[in-house]
Amino acid sequence: MSRPLPLTRPALAVVLLGSPGSGKGTQARQLSEALGIPHISTGDMLRAYVRQGHPTGAAVEGKLKAGILVKDEVVNALVVERLAQPDAARGFILDGYPRTRAQAETLSSMLAARGVQELVIHLIVDYNVIIARLTGRRQCPVCGTVYNLVSKPPKVPGVCDLDGAKLIVREDDRESVIRERLEAYEHQTRPLLDYFRGKGVRVSEVEASHDSPEVIFRKIEALIRES
Ligand code: ADP
Repeated sequence: MSRPLPLTRPALAVVLLGSPGSGKGTQARQLSEALGIPHISTGDMLRAYVRQGHPTGAAVEGKLKAGILVKDEVVNALVVERLAQPDAARGFILDGYPRTRAQAETLSSMLAARGVQELVIHLIVDYNVIIARLTGRRQCPVCGTVYNLVSKPPKVPGVCDLDGAKLIVREDDRESVIRERLEAYEHQTRPLLDYFRGKGVRVSEVEASHDSPEVIFRKIEALIRES
């Protein structure tokens, strides 16, 4: 059920941190709906630019396919522009941003200037579960619905339940690329947990390997509402 955050509380930036495949996107979508604040995914924004043939899309397409991080300046500019939209005034959920120290610093100074409270939620997922999720992921190229061969298979193998389109493997879900994405996370993004803690930002750990998405959602929602 949707219960928007009270208007009286300070604006809130929820940062979902976790490895690729930790379920950030799934949780962010549900939280956005329940709390009435936008879901901001730099991965989705970059993929939309590629689909639309936008000049930024042409510049980043190769990096996305190879699982390599896009330049900080490009991603920071996207986020600065997005956070200036009126719907982000009361708060927002960041999914896939920040991913590097430079991005975290840009975000912190933006939020400090606007008096926005930060809350970091770290989704912890076992390595083997991550690999099973990423290698089993299939997507509908028409409506974007994401399936998983193990945890959420389509009714008819290989076919989207909603529109009958043939499901595809996202280019960056190929095994060699998955390795690249996990390494980028380990070396560049995981250290941000210490960066945030060092600045006195609250970092809440949520074990997200085995519980259902619904149970994990309840835990995160409670952390946010009591923050
Ligand atoms: P995942 O978290 O599953 O890897 P995303 O959709 O968040 O998927 O990101 C997909 C790709 O988009 C990344 O591998 C990277 O190339 C690019 N990307 C997304 N967000 C960022 C970011 N904050 N900084 C740099 N590159 C990014």
